[in-house]
Amino acid sequence: MSRRTRNVTGEENTYGGTQGETYYVGEDKQKELGVSMFTCPAEQDLSEKLHEYFLLPAHKDDSDRFALDLFIHYNVGVNKDNILCPKYMKQVFETYGIDVPKEIKDGKCPVCELESKLQDKSEKMKLTHTKEEKDAWWKDNVAPLRAYYGKSYSPEPNRYLAWVRPALNEMDEKDIQFFLMSTGVYKEGVLAKSRNRRNEVIDLADPDNPYILYFKRKGKDQIDTKYSGYGADAYKDDAGEFIPMYDSWFEDVPRYTDILNFKTYVEIKELMGVCVVSDSKKETNDNEVETFFENDLNKEKEEAPAPPSRRRRQIITPDEEPISTDGEAEGDDTSTEDRQKDVDEIKSRVAAKRGRRVSIEK
Ligand SMILES: [Zn+2]
Repeated sequence: MSRRTRNVTGEENTYGGTQGETYYVGEDKQKELGVSMFTCPAEQDLSEKLHEYFLLPAHKDDSDRFALDLFIHYNVGVNKDNILCPKYMKQVFETYGIDVPKEIKDGKCPVCELESKLQDKSEKMKLTHTKEEKDAWWKDNVAPLRAYYGKSYSPEPNRYLAWVRPALNEMDEKDIQFFLMSTGVYKEGVLAKSRNRRNEVIDLADPDNPYILYFKRKGKDQIDTKYSGYGADAYKDDAGEFIPMYDSWFEDVPRYTDILNFKTYVEIKELMGVCVVSDSKKETNDNEVETFFENDLNKEKEEAPAPPSRRRRQIITPDEEPISTDGEAEGDDTSTEDRQKDVDEIKSRVAAKRGRRVSIEK
C-alpha cells in the first residue's frame, strides 16, 4: 500500500483518513476526549462523493478561527512519521495567543535545521552545477523536508485542523469530529465561502446561524485525487429562518492542544536517524546538523498577515446570563443534566423548523 507523501509541488496531499494522520493527532487522545476523525473518501469506484459538514466554533480558550494552521513534516525517518514542526507550530501558537505546549517551548526543529543546511548547499550548487541539476537535487532533498507550502519567505500551512460535525447523521446526536483539512478545502471550501458578494464576513461557524459546508472528492492517491464543488448553504427551515445548532454539538469541543501530539527536539532527532537524507547524501546526516534556527524565515513569517478571524458569539439563553460553551464540566453529572434540559428546550423550540437538506428522525 502506498503511503501518502509530501507533494513537493505544493499541491494537496491525498487525504481519506489514512493512518499517517494519527502521528500528530493522538489516537489515545481521541478516545479520551470522545472525538473522532472526519474522513472524506471518494466512492468505492473512486468516483465523486459528496461530503457535508457543519463547521463548529473553536473552544472558547482558543483563538476564534475557523481552523488552526498546521505545519507538518511528512515522512520523517525510517518509519516515515508525520510530525508537527516545533518551530512553525510555536510561531502559530504565539501568533494566536495560545499557550505553547511544553514539548516545543524551545521552538527548535532538527528537520528545519537540516532543511536550512541543505538549502545552503543547494545555493552553492549554482556555481558548480547546471540549473536543472541543482533544481532536481533541491526537489529530491530540500523540498521533502519542508513543513510548509509556498515560498520560504512566506510559508503557508500544509494542513488545517477544524472542528466539524457531519451533516448527514442523526441531528440530536453529539458528534464532534476533527477535520484535517487540505489547503484546498480550507481556502476554497471555507475561506472563499466566508465572504458574501459585498465582501462581508459570513461566520460559517455561528451556532445560531449555521451553514452546511460541502465539497466533492474523487480519486485516491496524490495524482488523481480531486476536490471540487465547494459550497456553503445556510441551514434554514422552510420559512427561511436559521435553525440553530444544538449546544451539545459544540459545547465539548476540545482545545486544539488537547488533541495534537508534539515531539521534542530530541525525540524528532531520534526519529530522523540518518534516514532523512538518502544514502548518497550521508555527509549531511543528523550528527552534523547545526543550528540554523534564527534565520530569515522567522522574520518573514512574523510579517505575514494573520488569517481572518471569525467573530466570537456568546451563547445566551432566553432571560438568562450568558452561559459557558466550553467543556469545563466534563463528566460532571449535574451539568450534564442541565445541559440536557437546554438541549431538550432547544430541541422543542426548533423541532418544528427542521430543515429540508438534512434528514432528521425523532
Ligand atoms: Zn520543522
